[in-house]
Amino acid sequence: MAIRVTVWGENVHEQTSKVVAGIYPEGMHQAIAGALNRAGGVTATTATLQEPEHGLTEARLAQTDVLIWWGHAAHGEVSDAVVDRVCHAVWSGMGAIFLHSAHFSKPFKRLMGSPCNLTWREAGERERIWLTSRNHPIAAGLPDHFELEHEEMYGEPFGVPEPLETVFISWFQGGEVFRSGLTWRRGAGNVFYFRPGHETYPTYHDPNVQRVILNAVTWAHNPAARLQDPGAAPNVPVDKAPEPITERGPRLHGDGDGGFR
Ligand code: ZN
Repeated sequence: MAIRVTVWGENVHEQTSKVVAGIYPEGMHQAIAGALNRAGGVTATTATLQEPEHGLTEARLAQTDVLIWWGHAAHGEVSDAVVDRVCHAVWSGMGAIFLHSAHFSKPFKRLMGSPCNLTWREAGERERIWLTSRNHPIAAGLPDHFELEHEEMYGEPFGVPEPLETVFISWFQGGEVFRSGLTWRRGAGNVFYFRPGHETYPTYHDPNVQRVILNAVTWAHNPAARLQDPGAAPNVPVDKAPEPITERGPRLHGDGDGGFR
């Protein structure tokens, strides 16, 4: 069965900048989805900020194996209800890939629980992306390093929790370096951050970048059934303990109480 991908695009720069619209006439989200669909094994569709519920209804997320997120200018316009829904889906087992400026998106910050800040410069620098985990599935079929002639610089320190794995690091012409491909697990969901993709450069037309995203989709896909209630915190009664015990001492909570949140 093909992996079902939803590519979420903020779709603002494409409408407001002639430069961006020239590079991505149908939007970055369509360019990313198109490359995935041409690769095979994946059925990629798109959703945008402007759609009702940003195109991310409960039903849509239930049919999404991996969500790809690109946002930049309108992070604050993403509804908190949708952010809750996306995080719940990740904790339940949906894969999530955050691209470039999605480091400051609400769902990414929520999933990381940290500032997700970095240094940056928009000067069209060459980026050299080095593979740091040669046998990692996200790096399959890629050379030891590849270059993007024009990219925005993102530099360390990157304010994210220590990742499970670092798959790529980037060097920039100006001298900075950055951990540009990082993985985490959040609940039952696999999360990948991939740095390149500034909107004024043709990054998502690059074959190596397209390969990374395709590999990341395959890696992030969790074929197990979704957890129904990933936030459950059951109060286990004394008589349901795995070993027999006798209750002792005072207690605050009654049998079956839900506990404080
Ligand atoms: Zn950018």
